[in-house]
Amino acid sequence: MTRIVVSKFGDVREEQIKSILDNMNETYERMRPREVELVDAFVFENSSLFRDFLSGEKMRLGVFDNFDSDFPAIHDAWRGIPRISFCMDKLNHLNDLVATGTVRHEVGHSVLHGSLEYYIFQTPPALSRVEEKHRLAPEYTRNILYLIAIAVKDYEVTDLLYSHGYQDDQVAYAQSLLEPSSNDLLAWQMAKGHPLAEVICIAGRMKDLLCAAPIIRSPNVSGEKLDKQAKSGLFYLPPELAKKVIEVAWQASDPAKASTHLKVEIASKILCDELFDQILGRT
Ligand SMILES: [Zn+2]
Repeated sequence: MTRIVVSKFGDVREEQIKSILDNMNETYERMRPREVELVDAFVFENSSLFRDFLSGEKMRLGVFDNFDSDFPAIHDAWRGIPRISFCMDKLNHLNDLVATGTVRHEVGHSVLHGSLEYYIFQTPPALSRVEEKHRLAPEYTRNILYLIAIAVKDYEVTDLLYSHGYQDDQVAYAQSLLEPSSNDLLAWQMAKGHPLAEVICIAGRMKDLLCAAPIIRSPNVSGEKLDKQAKSGLFYLPPELAKKVIEVAWQASDPAKASTHLKVEIASKILCDELFDQILGRT
């Protein structure tokens, strides 16, 4: 039995907390993870409280990631136990199915990635090679590694939830990610023509593609639908590049059994060798 300890930040209605807890409890109940005894659920009234807390935690714990959290919910295990933070103003904007899928997605992380080791990755050899060849700053390489790691972890979460019968909400969740956000579009407008920035944009979209990959692999209508949406969601990239991005994303999400850390190493090799090296080599 997983015990959930709730902490509230700001003005959050009790029924909102209850709805999140019901969803979390039902998901733990179905998956019955042996290792997850205790989970922290931090519920924030709004994005600004959420961001202040996150940046404070990152500073206090020396957590490296340069990316601002724009998510309605986020999982971490920086203090050694799984913690899920929910941002109510963002969660309330989602339709019910996507919101349910979001909560379950974070529960999935707590089951699979609920300890500190899933937040610490050594630079894979392929990434070191690219770093050396293109004289990249170590901080830049760490950003790429961070984006690859979260993509691989999202692949694992969808795979877990989908195989436990959470299909409609996981399809809805993946669809919401495949649709490019205004930030994705703006980031690409600013990045195009600049190889370093282009690679960051593409690595950032791997999370969305890999999250959908287990569903796309499944031989059913949802898989076909998401496959089309994955392709159309990259409409803003040059067609040849979009095709290549999809191709490497599917290669990088090979369902072979391997540890999370090994999967990150394999995905890094595919992405670096097949795509990033070429983009970074452009002058
Ligand atoms: Zn995730």
